[in-house]
Amino acid sequence: MCNKKTFSLGGIHLNKHKISALSPIQEAGVPPLVYIPVKQHIGAPAQIIVKVGDKVKIGTLLAKANEGISANVHSSVAGEIKKIEEIEAENGYSEQVITIQTSADEYEEGIDNSEEINNDIPQSLEEIKELIKSAGIVGMGGAGFPTPIKTSIPENKSVQYLIINGIECEPYLTADGALMLEKPEQIVIGAKILNKVLGIQNAIIAIDENKPQAIEKITKITKRYIGVNVAVCKSKYPQGGEKQLITAITGREVPSGRLPIDVGCVVQNVATVFAVYEAVMKHKPLYERIVTVSGDTSITTAGNYRTRIGTPAEYLLDLAQTDKSKISKLLFGGPMMGTAATNLHSPINKKTGGLLVLQAQEATKPDESCCIRCGKCAEVCPVGLMPFAIASNLRRNNTAPLKALHVADCIECGSCAYTCPAKVPLLDYCKLGKYEVHKQK
Ligand code: SF4
Ligand code: SF4
Repeated sequence: MCNKKTFSLGGIHLNKHKISALSPIQEAGVPPLVYIPVKQHIGAPAQIIVKVGDKVKIGTLLAKANEGISANVHSSVAGEIKKIEEIEAENGYSEQVITIQTSADEYEEGIDNSEEINNDIPQSLEEIKELIKSAGIVGMGGAGFPTPIKTSIPENKSVQYLIINGIECEPYLTADGALMLEKPEQIVIGAKILNKVLGIQNAIIAIDENKPQAIEKITKITKRYIGVNVAVCKSKYPQGGEKQLITAITGREVPSGRLPIDVGCVVQNVATVFAVYEAVMKHKPLYERIVTVSGDTSITTAGNYRTRIGTPAEYLLDLAQTDKSKISKLLFGGPMMGTAATNLHSPINKKTGGLLVLQAQEATKPDESCCIRCGKCAEVCPVGLMPFAIASNLRRNNTAPLKALHVADCIECGSCAYTCPAKVPLLDYCKLGKYEVHKQK
């Protein structure tokens, strides 16, 4: 196969545990209640426009994007609004959530729910942009940045590359891989649509070498679509990090404190690109996504589920025949960058690519000992930081040098903590360091 691409600085090799890599996408169905947060994105929460007692359909607008950075939120089910309240979110913060008691599926007018592939991209750029915006699409790889804003290029900038992130480098997670296997043409059409939005003909779908079937399928399809190509990347963590992927594909480095657009790149996750296809070609708002359930296979059955936004984690765990009494830790996302769920009712949101179920021995934090100054944490850091120095300063409550140590550039990949032989919780220190630097601003 062609040259495999990767980033140059740091990185680690992980046991991938992609247990559900070849599991077909299953329909999760409709739970009796869904809990839909109005802030599933970076920026301001959407403004609720419905009230308790209202009847809704699949695709009904529940909350309208605020000015600035925000995104619309739609109903993922048909039913009746039962409650609007503040509840504890998966990240421990409280957020406004709309509870809907579900009934039989009924779609808003105009939504094409058929499986038929449509590649007749609208001529009007304004129409395309409006469809993406009104669908409430945000970065589904975990960042949650509203897509219409990420694809609006400032006048003083130009874009040369659209990089579609199909790496999925977190262990266990296979939702993006399953999507590439089952919806390859829709993803390629989504890339064509975004090419049009950006005014370029240069989309590159980056896929990890550990997904040979997806590479083969998508490469074959791209032969029929001008301006979309595939790049195969080495299996190295965190290859899916935005800046690492840009370096791998283009050789360009995003400088400290700068954005991908500063080096002429826009990066979108494959699930986001699929959502763009659905919004523009099928008039579907973003109300469902693929979620991997995986982890300790002695208590759960790994699989990939098409899941309505707002579905409680517990419902998916039951579908995956999980012995909930044995769960010691439940993560939203993968083991490296995922966040611990505070309870089993936490709802799936637009950014949730996976639920990871861990038993006691896997969930227990290892005992920490003293730093032995081996330098391994600095060796593996893909951003070139010195995590041991960040930790040592924070231990001494010395926050002044943190800015000069560039802790704000940390992408929270966890490679340092994973590698540290002394089991120093370096990721926790880096997160704290970022918070301290943010406070100093
Ligand atoms: S968590 Fe931050 S400091 Fe640690 S390796 Fe990743 S980028 Fe570097
Ligand atoms: S890897 Fe751990 S032990 Fe080695 S220098 Fe870094 S913090 Fe210290």
